[in-house]
Amino acid sequence: MIVAGLQDGVWPNLRARGSLLGANRLDGDGPGAGDGTADARAEVLHDELRTFLKALSTARSAVLLTAVESDDEQPSPFVAGIEPTPAPDGGWHSLRSLVASLRRRAVRAAADGDERDLSQAAAALRRLAAAGVPGAATGEWAGLAPISTTERLDAVEAVHASPSSLQSLEDCEVAWVIDRVAGSTGGQAAGFGTIVHEAVEQHDATDPLELEQAIGARFGELAHESSWEAARQRGDIAPMTATIADYFQRLRGLGWTVETADREARFSVELEGGATLNGSIDWLEHAPGGTVRVVDLKTGKRKPDEHAELGNLQLRAYQLAIALGGIAGVPPQAATEARLFLPRLERREKAIDAEPFEGVRERFEAHLAEAVAAMGGADFRAVPAEHCFERFAHGQCAIHVLPEVTE
Ligand code: SF4
Repeated sequence: MIVAGLQDGVWPNLRARGSLLGANRLDGDGPGAGDGTADARAEVLHDELRTFLKALSTARSAVLLTAVESDDEQPSPFVAGIEPTPAPDGGWHSLRSLVASLRRRAVRAAADGDERDLSQAAAALRRLAAAGVPGAATGEWAGLAPISTTERLDAVEAVHASPSSLQSLEDCEVAWVIDRVAGSTGGQAAGFGTIVHEAVEQHDATDPLELEQAIGARFGELAHESSWEAARQRGDIAPMTATIADYFQRLRGLGWTVETADREARFSVELEGGATLNGSIDWLEHAPGGTVRVVDLKTGKRKPDEHAELGNLQLRAYQLAIALGGIAGVPPQAATEARLFLPRLERREKAIDAEPFEGVRERFEAHLAEAVAAMGGADFRAVPAEHCFERFAHGQCAIHVLPEVTE
């Protein structure tokens, strides 16, 4: 028994039935009665359900229901009321899951050397492919296509390394190159960070109210997934701006200065081999004795990953840029400190200072040379690890986190 086209709005169709003049409404339309629409719809629903059950009751051995689920159409609620018979290998009740099930079966049969099962699954896939079902033809299976090129993606360009990309390259070269070539979706965490950075750059950072207003004025630009998420992030603004303002006030009390030109200080320095290191430093702090401190503002709630020996690679790149004379007004030989400032870090001390640069400069330069070679290469290494599961990491890369269709 096949019941085809079980679409919402088609079966059940709740449009009230009746005669042209609505004679069927006379019954319920006495004084004080409502318009009877709800009752009429309930009656129609009962009729539709009765017809559906009657159709099912004529089945002798099996019932096949078909429906389409798409952006425009939904299956009838009657479909949800039927408990499907599970398929022997876990169930396929759509073409998509049927294809996945057959692919899984074919791959397992091939691994087990079961020729008979393999040829059955392959024959079924061939039929589906001939009918144009997506994913059935092996030509569409990801990973089976030949490598289209072994050339560098941007063979004509020099490598431009950015300090912020060094750690993501360290974490996973594949995620890095995808992010670079395809761009990341960013997300509201990155958007929030941009707004906070701009507020600190363009406003009086010692004034918590001014910062709060500047961030609040642009908060509506962020696309939050839910209102509770927006409310939670908005609630973080006041404590965060109070922490930032307190930091700058204490800095001023200690005699340190931050010049306007030292906020978002841009640099571009040439490295050996023709590559360039480009970026901008959130701000530079000048001590009364001449020491310069590079500060990177992080608006996340946790400490970013760092290299086991070199510490935070982004800070190291900033220090190297200064040492190579990349920042106007800062002599290359200046003693540089480096600090991460994390106003939302869930612990009392919000600043994390890096170990002295001089001790690691040589190793960092060697590391940077390797990173530049990797960025300019044609082979990229995937490193599946915990970072793959971080919601906002790597432009939300999930290549090796989502199970293969065949598993
Ligand atoms: S899932 Fe993980 S290992 Fe795979 S490309 Fe993305 S970040 Fe790299």
